[in-house]
Amino acid sequence: MTRRRASYRSLDSLKRDQRLCRLCVEAGYQLESWPVIAAGNGQRAFLYGQAPGIVEGGERRPWRGRAGKTLRRWLDLDEDAFYATFYCASVTRCYPGRPASGRGDRTPTTEEQRLCEPWRDHELSLLRPRLIVTVGGLAARRLLGVTSVTESVGARYEHDGAVAIPLPHPSGASSWLNHAENRERVAGAVALIHAELALL
Ligand code: SF4
Repeated sequence: MTRRRASYRSLDSLKRDQRLCRLCVEAGYQLESWPVIAAGNGQRAFLYGQAPGIVEGGERRPWRGRAGKTLRRWLDLDEDAFYATFYCASVTRCYPGRPASGRGDRTPTTEEQRLCEPWRDHELSLLRPRLIVTVGGLAARRLLGVTSVTESVGARYEHDGAVAIPLPHPSGASSWLNHAENRERVAGAVALIHAELALL
């Protein structure tokens, strides 16, 4: 049976419970991995994506597949710098598997998103990051209430005392990045992120 406390005194104790979370499975949803857990401690910024992919689910570590490589290239950070800078979380933490169409990964249901959200809230209250980067439309919508990727990428938001900067998802599944003006938006967002990282 999953255990999730009303509050946590440290990220280590939170991760001990999070690692064993089966709330969605207990609610009847099929998941294809155990939770993916943020590596290390002491990160200055919070990165919030959609859900792990098959590679991340297998390794139980975030951003290990092709999308992670693209994200690090955008940010011009090598693996060590990336994982030391960002505490990597996501709207849901377990690989959701394939959709019925067999294309891409299944988008977690609204109920799965709701079940997972308290993990994020515990993390944010323990970390108190000054910078949050959302990755992909679902994460921006869920955390910031932002509905348009095009309008949000390159913009700067506030969330509970932190600066929040959205990025699109780097998976390449959408054609959004094929447009030159959108790639310029990404470059603008990355410049904002680096400016904020320099202040941390
Ligand atoms: S997606 Fe989140 S709430 Fe659902 S089982 Fe995984 S860690 Fe738990």
